[in-house]
This record gives sequence, C-alpha cells and structure tokens, in this order.
Amino acid sequence: MKVHFWGVRGSIPTPLSPLQIQNRIGAVVQRISEKDLKDADSRERFLASLPNWLFGTVGGNTSCVELETTEGACIILDAGSGLRELSNNLRERKDSERGKTFHIFFSHFHWDHIQGLPFFSQAFNPANKIIFYSTNPDLKSILERQMENPYFPVPMQGPMGFNAELEFINLLDTDGITIGGTYIRWHEVAHPGGCVAYRFEDAGKTFIYATDTELNRDDFVKTEENSRFFANADAVVMDSQYTMEEALEKTGWGHSAFSVTVDFALNWGVQKLILFHHEPNYSDKKLFTLKQSASWYSNYGDKGVVDIEIAQEGMEFEL
Ligand SMILES: [Zn+2]
Ligand SMILES: [Zn+2]
Repeated sequence: MKVHFWGVRGSIPTPLSPLQIQNRIGAVVQRISEKDLKDADSRERFLASLPNWLFGTVGGNTSCVELETTEGACIILDAGSGLRELSNNLRERKDSERGKTFHIFFSHFHWDHIQGLPFFSQAFNPANKIIFYSTNPDLKSILERQMENPYFPVPMQGPMGFNAELEFINLLDTDGITIGGTYIRWHEVAHPGGCVAYRFEDAGKTFIYATDTELNRDDFVKTEENSRFFANADAVVMDSQYTMEEALEKTGWGHSAFSVTVDFALNWGVQKLILFHHEPNYSDKKLFTLKQSASWYSNYGDKGVVDIEIAQEGMEFEL
C-alpha cells in the first residue's frame, strides 16, 4: 500500500506568514556566494545544500492522509484542510473523470479533522461514491451540521450539495471490516471527547494511523488487545505534538510528547514511526530539530531500532 500525506498540522491550519517567507529569502541570500551562481549545476547543488527548514516546510494543512491499497482502493484518513489538496490532486489523475469510490475514515470530529470536507469536490460529482466510516453513531448528522447555515453556504444534502452517492458506516459494533483485500480494525485512544486509531493490513504489511492520542501507561501494557492492535506494525503515524516540557504543562489536552511516542514505537516493535499532528506554534526549524532529537533519543541505550520520519505535506512512501 502507498501512504501519502496531505495535511500534517494539528489543531488549526498554519500557513507561512509574509514575514516568515521574507526571513527565509533573506537567510538564503546571505548564504549564496558567486560560485553557487555559476551554472545550473552549481545552483542545484546550492539549493540541495540548504537546510530543510529553509528550503521547505512541513506544511500548514491539518490532518489528511491518503492510503492507496494494493488493489487500488482510495482510503482517506481524516478530512482536515489537507483534503482540499488531495481533492485538487485527484482531479489531475488519469482516472478522475470516471466514477470512483472514496473511503473516508474519521478518527474523531474536532475541527482540524473535518474542516476540509466541504471542499472535497469529488463529493459533489454524482458519478462518485463516498463511504464515511466512524465509531460515532451520529456520524451523518455531525457531518451535515458543519455545512448547515450559518456555518457554510451549501448544505451537504441540498440540490447543490454532495451529489455523490453517500454511505455512512458505523464501526462501533464491528471488530473490523475489509475493503477489497485490506483488513481494517479500530482502537480507542485517550483524547478529550474520544478518538480512535486505525490499523490497516494489506498484502502482508501493517500500517497504523494514531492521531490525537495522549499516550499513557496502559498503552504500553502487553495485553492481548493492545498486542493485537499495536504490535509489529511496519509503519505508525502518531500524534507527537509536544516536547516533553510542553506535554507536562498540557496534561489532559490529548496529545503526546515525541519522546513518549518513540518509547511507544520501541515498546511495540514498530519499524517506522512518523511524527504527526504538529503543534501549530512550532516553526519548521523547531519541527526538524524535534525529528533529530527523536532519532537521537531512539538510538540512546539498547531499546531497539526504529526508523523515524517527520510527516510533511507531499511526503509519500510505500509499504
Ligand atoms: Zn487534531
Ligand atoms: Zn482532537
């Protein structure tokens, strides 16, 4: 399966400000020397030598991750503002004109996980089918309510609204479901108002999406249920919003410190950990530093090995 990141920020969209862009251009200009400008190759080399926080950004859109299964199903994890980017990208794909089914799973319904849905243009196309999944029995009315007057100009179920065929699936009474050859299960995690993580098994590979999670001691205990859900995943996308210092100040806010997330990944034999749901107040520079700290921390002592990445918009990998 292929994993593609369209929105990685927590809480609220955070576009770069004009001042931040000006400061970046200023810092780049300061680093250029005459030899860097000599020809196309030297210019390429110069750009490649810039630190990632100067020549890039993790992105400012809120949670949205796309999973393309080995059988080609399109699974979407949360509908934060990143969903609009995915929607634009889908329109450029070869098969975009034909009717297609999209499977949208919600971890929970905080704004940063639903605010992109009214901008998912594929939902307005009668040729498409959208299947929504959640453990909340009010799934349909929750989604309708965010598009009601006065919150949005177009009601979800009106003549101008979502004309695609819609289906709402309540996962609460199910242990798991399958989409083609992909087996999906859910697990409750600690977050104010509730939230679930999802586990996807496809062609012998396992992927877990666990956003908005305040890890606690129970999550490390090797109970049968925990082991069935968390053990030996090939990749885990996990809420790592805070530094340890900030996590201690914000106990009960429903998010985890990156070092606790690393401990968690090592505890469960995870191959690859992707730090996710970035704090909106953290700059790119700070976030890339957190990634370095997390890698250093994971290699400290004899706790095992985990490959650590920081989620960035546009990043993709295959399992
Ligand atoms: Zn969130
Ligand atoms: Zn939340």
